[in-house]
Amino acid sequence: MAFRFEEIKSYKTVVICDDCKKETLICYDDLPLNFNDRMNGALSKNYTFKNYGDGTFKNYCEDCKSKYE
Ligand SMILES: [Zn+2]
Repeated sequence: MAFRFEEIKSYKTVVICDDCKKETLICYDDLPLNFNDRMNGALSKNYTFKNYGDGTFKNYCEDCKSKYE
């Protein structure tokens, strides 16, 4: 009998609302998501992605986003 054991690392990416701090899972992947994939993932979970133009980016969940529009 032969066995081989490997440790497989994966990264769980969670978007956190900048208002109520609600967390929503975006995905598990073997590498942390890059900026664009994080933003697209947040949008796909009905979070907004707001660019304040001064280098500040915020994510707001479905419940909070109307406060910031
Ligand atoms: Zn929220």
